[in-house]
Amino acid sequence: MAEYDAIIIGTGIGGAAIGALLAHDGRKVLILDKNKIVGGRCTSYEHKGFTLDLGVHLFGVGDKGSLGEVLRMTGAPDAIDWVTIRRSSQQVGGETKKYSQKDMVKSLPADEQTNLTNLFARVHMITDREIDELWYTPVETWMNEFTRHPLAHAFIGSIVGQYFCVPSPEASAAEFIKCFKEVLVARSSAYPKGGCIAIPKAYLSVAEKHGGEIRLGADVKNITVEEGAAVGVRLKDGSELRAPVIISNADIKATVRDLVGPEHFPKAYADEIMNLTYADSCIMFKIGLKERITDDQLRMYMPDDRTPLNKASEEGKPDAAPAKVGGMIVVPTNFDTSLGPDEDKQLICFGTGIRTTGDWRKRDWDAWHKALRDSIYSAFPEAQDKVLWEKMDTPQLVDAYAGEEGNIIGVGQTVDQIHKRRPSVVSPLKGLYYSSAEAGGHGIGTELAASSAMELFAALKSQ
Ligand SMILES: Cc1cc2nc3c(=O)[nH]c(=O)nc-3n(C[C@H](O)[C@H](O)[C@H](O)COP(=O)(O)OP(=O)(O)OC[C@H]3O[C@@H](n4cnc5c(N)ncnc54)[C@H](O)[C@@H]3O)c2cc1C
Repeated sequence: MAEYDAIIIGTGIGGAAIGALLAHDGRKVLILDKNKIVGGRCTSYEHKGFTLDLGVHLFGVGDKGSLGEVLRMTGAPDAIDWVTIRRSSQQVGGETKKYSQKDMVKSLPADEQTNLTNLFARVHMITDREIDELWYTPVETWMNEFTRHPLAHAFIGSIVGQYFCVPSPEASAAEFIKCFKEVLVARSSAYPKGGCIAIPKAYLSVAEKHGGEIRLGADVKNITVEEGAAVGVRLKDGSELRAPVIISNADIKATVRDLVGPEHFPKAYADEIMNLTYADSCIMFKIGLKERITDDQLRMYMPDDRTPLNKASEEGKPDAAPAKVGGMIVVPTNFDTSLGPDEDKQLICFGTGIRTTGDWRKRDWDAWHKALRDSIYSAFPEAQDKVLWEKMDTPQLVDAYAGEEGNIIGVGQTVDQIHKRRPSVVSPLKGLYYSSAEAGGHGIGTELAASSAMELFAALKSQ
């Protein structure tokens, strides 16, 4: 007999969100995670008196998008205390300006400025029907209709890199335009008090309030299949649990290959899942400072005027570390001073995407360490004599928490894996579903995972 209505594998954003939605809907849910801490890639942990996010996080539309919608749908609209971004800048080489469309336009030669202005205007005016025609067009191709100027491409490439962690020649123009438009209209990019872990914690507390059960340190070894349907899970400790609905928030490839077994799916489907590609992976450099040195909450850093965030991937040379790398710099303590040991201290987090091809674990991380270090101190030279500690994280850290070779987002939002080409939240195996940044959904990172959960909730309600 089934003990639960649904078993969810993973407390990442997608797992925690579907747990909240189903529990609030009156279903008996069990949420399992192999880790001892919740949140998957959206988790935070203590380091030398600071609270560090596993990644380098900022949230596209904060409360106004799917992250907030999950809480509104579950009667807990205020469960996350969002701090909306107010101070952001963009640095190109030695020059730092406000992070705004106007300043990007002004940075271009006079005869190019109208072209970028036209692109931004198009994003505001474009209709949903017109967007629908661009799902399978790369951002770069769409952009070339407006401008071919390298700096304009670097600016847009940086936004694409920040949103999707795939380069512009691969990213979907429709997904980019939709997300960019939502960010511009909402003007509510934000960071939650308590660090990024506040989001999965809020969802899981909703689930628990409505009778949901959460078990950490519960590593699922496989999903039990009987008579052509997923009916339960077996944990590595040998225990077995049953439910008619099994939802995987884990890596979609690992779910099909290791947890279920490809023999339980149509061959074409299993092959398709195995051929999916991930977004780029992240390397990060974080520094704790004994004094505050900046009021910026976000700085987009480009070492020169033609290097978007995913330059290394774009050139097909992901192995060699460049002298400096572009990336996103977030200052979490400028959103919430309690993330530092006291109000005077500052935490600066720099992250950039790299591709984990080949034997990536053996890459020359010291060279990358130097590139990131040199880059962050070019952005904030005044930080150098205020350092309490420095910490460099490779994709191995993210891989250890959430698998998928430490990639940033999940299944890449590229033209061949977007919209109708994206795996559905409903698998062809009866009783097996996905809720994560790997199936369905729309949006930036965590918002993609929360929207996958909402899509699955609607699908389960209609069954
Ligand atoms: C460096 C970095 C920077 C990022 N920056 C941003 C940002 O600025 N803005 C943004 O919105 N997003 C950002 N993201 C992306 C965002 O964090 C992810 O897209 C999102 O959190 C993925 O959620 P998910 O639901 O797919 O679950 P995941 O995070 O993939 O979690 C899956 C969970 O499943 C569990 N699990 C896996 N296998 C098993 C098993 N066998 N048994 C039990 N449990 C299992 C794992 O332990 C994990 O907790 C960033 C991510 C990283 C890594």
